[in-house]
Amino acid sequence: MAPSAITIPRKLPLLIVSDGVLLPGSSIRIPVSTSKNINLVRSRIATGNQLSNTVIGVVTKEEREGNVYGLHPIGTAGMVVQVTVTNWPRPVYTLLVTGICRFRMTSIVQEYPYPVAMVTQLDNHKGEMDDDTHIDKDLEDLVIKFKEGARRLINLLDVSLPIVSKLKVLVDKVPNKQLADVVVGLVKASLAERLQVLDAVDLASRLRVILPLLLRHIQRLEVLKEDGSKENEKNNLKMHICGNGHGVGMSAEDEETDDIQELENQLKDAGMPQEAYRVAMKELSRLKRMAAHMPEYSMTRNYLELLADLPWSYSVKETCSISKARADLDTDHYGLEKVKRRILEYLAVRQLRGDLRGPILCFVGPPGVGKTSVARSIANTLGRPFHRISLGGVSDQHDIRGHRRTYIGAMPGRVIQGLREVQAKNPVFLLDEIDKLGSGIQGDPGAALLEVLDPAQNFSFIDTYVNLPFDLSQVLFVATANSLRSIPPPLLDRMEIIHVPGYTQEEKVMIGQLHLIPKQVKDHGLTSDTFTICKESLVCIISEYTREAGVRTLERKIGAVCRAVAVQIAENMVEDDVKPQEMDIENNNAEVEGEEKEELPEISLGQLQDHQEFPIVVDEKMVHDILGPPIFQSGLAGRVSVPGVAVGLAWTPVGGEVLVVEASRSDGDPGLILTGQLGSVMQESAKIALSWVRQNVKQFGIDADLSKAGEIHMHFPVGAISKDGPSAGVTIITVLVSLLSGRCVRPDVAMTGEITLNGIVLPVGGIKEKILAAHRAGLTIVIIPVGNKKDISELPKSVLDEVEVVLVNTVDEVLQAAFQDGFPHVYDLGDDTPTVTSKL
Ligand code: ADP
Repeated sequence: MAPSAITIPRKLPLLIVSDGVLLPGSSIRIPVSTSKNINLVRSRIATGNQLSNTVIGVVTKEEREGNVYGLHPIGTAGMVVQVTVTNWPRPVYTLLVTGICRFRMTSIVQEYPYPVAMVTQLDNHKGEMDDDTHIDKDLEDLVIKFKEGARRLINLLDVSLPIVSKLKVLVDKVPNKQLADVVVGLVKASLAERLQVLDAVDLASRLRVILPLLLRHIQRLEVLKEDGSKENEKNNLKMHICGNGHGVGMSAEDEETDDIQELENQLKDAGMPQEAYRVAMKELSRLKRMAAHMPEYSMTRNYLELLADLPWSYSVKETCSISKARADLDTDHYGLEKVKRRILEYLAVRQLRGDLRGPILCFVGPPGVGKTSVARSIANTLGRPFHRISLGGVSDQHDIRGHRRTYIGAMPGRVIQGLREVQAKNPVFLLDEIDKLGSGIQGDPGAALLEVLDPAQNFSFIDTYVNLPFDLSQVLFVATANSLRSIPPPLLDRMEIIHVPGYTQEEKVMIGQLHLIPKQVKDHGLTSDTFTICKESLVCIISEYTREAGVRTLERKIGAVCRAVAVQIAENMVEDDVKPQEMDIENNNAEVEGEEKEELPEISLGQLQDHQEFPIVVDEKMVHDILGPPIFQSGLAGRVSVPGVAVGLAWTPVGGEVLVVEASRSDGDPGLILTGQLGSVMQESAKIALSWVRQNVKQFGIDADLSKAGEIHMHFPVGAISKDGPSAGVTIITVLVSLLSGRCVRPDVAMTGEITLNGIVLPVGGIKEKILAAHRAGLTIVIIPVGNKKDISELPKSVLDEVEVVLVNTVDEVLQAAFQDGFPHVYDLGDDTPTVTSKL
């Protein structure tokens, strides 16, 4: 226990403690919270993942005349033996430091990033004479009294504690000086008394300081023992020993008691169910018996604070009226008729039944189509708080269910954290991107989520951290997803799917005019009096700068335009110090012409400089000036002008996409090479297409011997994105026929459909998104399977006016529609037709 003689460095980095004293031979836990102490830990002690064995100086803060930097002049050199980090609710380091020897600070040589002092070692150094060798009569008496006291103390303490049993053995072996330091760690003493012990360097003065403290403590213990409250005191002693010499000043103790009292009151007011309250009170009494610097103390305290914060029985009053809900949904969103209708039905049924049982609504659609914003509207209309739980990439079930409290850095799961944040037990929880849930080695978060959503279980959901049932039955869960494919089937089973498809160009224009522009204008501190974007400019932004099913990029681009205009208006306002409406820009330009050029914003605003009056109307030219050259050029005409190219339509979780499929022929072994990261289903489609072409080309008058056609290479851009699905079948056949016949496919045609070996075209999914994508790309004819006829009704009239939908049953019909003037059949009788030679 007692460290052997040692020489410490002359220069020591300092760790400053405010309410404790480290004595040689004992260990204390020191919470690190000030910036200088944190700097010291990060740069000298816990470097990377390692604990370096640097000797540090532990000094106590003491505002007293003569003290340099408000520090007690004598400190203790110590070694850090353990660092614990708690991450929740905020990162806190706690160091376990063992004292080596006293030192006196001679000067501070560095203050930042942490203080460093020059020191003189005071005890325990090499060559120090053994204090037991030359003692006079007075001192001898003192030593005898002290040892006797130490033994009495040990007998009063709980020997089951390791430190007490160890001390019992060591009491006659350790030099008196060191024993004195260790014993003082076991007695209750104020900060000032401990500093006195620290200051007592020689044996006689040390014993003179310690003896009264020791006797006082023994007396106290004996009285308590007589009172029969030994059990309590034992606990007190335990706490004292675990604190191990950490002399907490009386005022800090009082503060702590006040805090705990407040926590107790909060727990009483939290409206917990009986079982939870019982557990909370049990934990609270444990907390009261713990030393404040044990790591378990802060863990228990965090736990109790969470229990006190949870909305066990508080719900907000709901304001549900169907007519208000209808009005709210309409005000917040343009279009989305089907979605709104379904939400109103759901709310109406709920209101009539008076509970939340029933499927969970899940909005499925590409990004930016308003799924989150619809869910937020539901919360607003019901007057419930809204909380979003993002599930994208969550692959650990503990994220949902919480971590066991015994782990360092343990925290509750997202559901409990959300409830703590919203402070009501009946919020609307949005489970965002439920299709992106992962599953890793840490258990299946989907299964945990199922428990949260299942009405048969969720009235007593047990988070592993809280370890008490919490009633989730009042929470209204709503989910969003981009695609149904990756939602775990049991979860899918719990949900009612509402598809939110992409928007047409017209719908985007309306959303832009009615919602996005007013919102962005307001967000950028502008008003409609100063600034508007005309319809043509909006169309230009939509078609040249965005290619998406939703409106998120559109909103961002409108934001960029607003920012650029805001800069200009703000600049003019500063220069003129007049309101924009009153500004005479012509004069203004003339006056500050020279300076204005230098202060132009980075984006060249071209016309904006010459504007004469407000409101500033952003036209197409200005859009180009602000947003730069167009990102997307409409039309695919240039790309479909050679044989062996056709436009297919694909469905992706982010909406429909046009896919330009290309093929080329080269000398080499006959065969088909496919590139573009195709999945197995797509590769099989390609093989079916090739077989069909082999068997049928002749009837279309194509004179190509496929066995001698060489190598055919077919590519599906974009090559970096993996693709799969059967719907490219018709496109692959069309590309092959075009390549072999040397005829170009019509540039305004797109197609989708699965094929069979006999050339039948089967229906496929995502027709609405695909036709919208074709429309966005400026294509005017879309070939789809007859089986998809019913899906056409979902398309807005404005799109159907501009796109001709051709329904097909067979590959033959596809080819007739895909090529200019069709592909007439040639009934070639072939070489084997019997011929009759005239003998005449
Ligand atoms: P998602 O959750 O589907 O990815 P968001 O709900 O975040 O999309 O929507 C993106 C932005 O587009 C939001 O600002 C939203 O208000 C707006 N928005 C989307 N659809 C509409 C609509 N139909 N009417 C008005 N605004 C809309």
